[in-house]
Amino acid sequence: MRMKAQQFTVHFEFTSPDLKAKLHAWCNNVLKEFPKLPPLRLLCFFDNDQPEWLQRQLGGFTGIHTPIIGSGTWPRYVSKHFFQSDGGFAYDDLIYIPKTQYIEQPVPFVIVFAHEMQHFVQRGFTPKVSKANALLLWNLIKFDPTTELKPWELPNNREAMIVAIRVAEVVCGKKAVKDFIKAQIEDGRNSHNISKTHLWEWANTLKSSVSYDLLKETNKFVQQYRSQLQTLKSDIDFSKAKWWL
Ligand SMILES: [Zn+2]
Repeated sequence: MRMKAQQFTVHFEFTSPDLKAKLHAWCNNVLKEFPKLPPLRLLCFFDNDQPEWLQRQLGGFTGIHTPIIGSGTWPRYVSKHFFQSDGGFAYDDLIYIPKTQYIEQPVPFVIVFAHEMQHFVQRGFTPKVSKANALLLWNLIKFDPTTELKPWELPNNREAMIVAIRVAEVVCGKKAVKDFIKAQIEDGRNSHNISKTHLWEWANTLKSSVSYDLLKETNKFVQQYRSQLQTLKSDIDFSKAKWWL
């Protein structure tokens, strides 16, 4: 009998030795701030390229977390790591960080990576809460065409941003984080990038020391859009009071 010794480790892959040299220490420092991880195998892939077709397929992004099964098409140099030699999956989840201006400096890199790490934690420990947020993200405009809510204000993103800022403050120092956020707001204003300005003004209001109740905050949205959520195909029974169990 073959022992199935599952190792729930986090594995880092980099597209080049240069990129590894630059990011590896920052990656380890972020990982240290996540002492309790779900029992899933996670591949973190850091790219020094930014394939345009991938940005089109997934919508412009600076980082992404996804379960590997059903995650669509990836560059061959990424997807070759998904499988074991016997053809089975080597990992459950993927965090993919493409080359953007954000991976050039520690503060934005740590914010992007820690944000995606928190999405991994959410999906591992509270899968239905995580899924409910994804359903809201994809359908909110349809449910509520006049909604003013920005994608980053959904509970899973709010919690991920709170955690990301907290981790960045530990890894890079509070002042560096504050200066970075201020510079983003200023840059957004100067370049008339309203969405960028709003995002960082919003980030600036988050208190990194406050604990956030993801279930409670998500449930408020579920109550508000319960009847519409029930019409969607999903593995969550939104008619139940405790739909998250
Ligand atoms: Zn997010």
